[in-house]
Amino acid sequence: MRRSRKEESVETCHISGCDEAGERSMPRKKVKDALEKKMEGEGKRTQLCKTHYREYKKATKVERKLEQLRR
Ligand SMILES: [Zn+2]
Repeated sequence: MRRSRKEESVETCHISGCDEAGERSMPRKKVKDALEKKMEGEGKRTQLCKTHYREYKKATKVERKLEQLRR
């Protein structure tokens, strides 16, 4: 028997349209700036699945590299 999403203790990824299980909790604002995706849920922190966490890490890495190059 499948439980509904609300009853599950594991939160799902907060990226809109994504149903993967949340792996990491990240500051919402940072994720929004980095990924520029629609997000569900409320609060200061947001859940990211493995895939989106990787995307987020990639996005922030690129950003950091560009900042270094600007020097
Ligand atoms: Zn996701």
